[in-house]
Order: sequence, then structure tokens, then C-alpha cells
Amino acid sequence: MVPCKVCKKEVAKSAITCPHCGAKLKMHPAGKFFIGCLGIIGITICALLFYLYVSYDVK
Ligand SMILES: [Zn+2]
Repeated sequence: MVPCKVCKKEVAKSAITCPHCGAKLKMHPAGKFFIGCLGIIGITICALLFYLYVSYDVK
């Protein structure tokens, strides 16, 4: 059991929303996956930009 961030009542660890106040406790799994993908894409773009920057700088 974990305390709800909003109403401070005990809520099951696996609960996505609080049964007492209805507050969202966890991010939707699809949302987590989306953010993970976004992070990987962001890192790839950063690596690509860094590679381009380095290769242009060497001239
Ligand atoms: Zn609550």
C-alpha cells in the first residue's frame, strides 16, 4: 500500500487511479512507452547533431 499524493489515504500499489479521490497515481503504460520512445529519438538526434558538428568542425 502507498499513500495517495492528493488525499493521503492508503491505495493499492497497482492502482492507476485513487479509489478515494480519483487522482491519477501512475502514468498510463502507453504514455510511459511513448516517453521512452521520445527519449530514444531525442538521444539519437542529439548523437546525430553532435556527429555532424564534429565532422564539420574538423575541416
Ligand atoms: Zn486520493
